[in-house]
Amino acid sequence: MKDRKRCAVPGCVNHNDQGPFVGDVCSPCYSFLTGVSGGQYSQAAKNGQDRLMLIQEVMNCYAWAIPFINRHGELIVYPKNNIYLNCTTVFSRTAMENKVVSWLSRPCTKDQTPKVMKQMGESFNRYLGTEFTLEDLNQIYTYFGNDANEEWRKKFVDRKFDMAVIKELKESRD
Ligand SMILES: [Zn+2]
Repeated sequence: MKDRKRCAVPGCVNHNDQGPFVGDVCSPCYSFLTGVSGGQYSQAAKNGQDRLMLIQEVMNCYAWAIPFINRHGELIVYPKNNIYLNCTTVFSRTAMENKVVSWLSRPCTKDQTPKVMKQMGESFNRYLGTEFTLEDLNQIYTYFGNDANEEWRKKFVDRKFDMAVIKELKESRD
């Protein structure tokens, strides 16, 4: 008897004792992911729609940078300077906010012209619904940029980008 397992597609609740599976995914998800007919009601299809909406929301906040989605499903936020967000596994607003904090704080404070840094900061704030100053953005990049301090970063996102989390992080190291 084979082990009971759940479809590997995030959010899918189909188990292999309820219907056919192909490898690690249920048959409807498999159909959708491989482009075979059907599968339009699968969790994989729903995730794709959700993901697209999450990406569009970011794109709308960075419209000045002329963002696009490439064939790998990555979001190229600012093609001119190769600023991108690998969000192929992002299926929730919270996960996207974590990505934005990790990867889009840097161009707000580093390696860009003052004009671009300012635009990046404005877009960052627009997406997160915050009013961070350049000094705040510097701190955010320093402590959470490039995926650093994951647990603290999650706390920062969960607490609606409360700068006090960074203060606590610093104090925890004293
Ligand atoms: Zn499935």
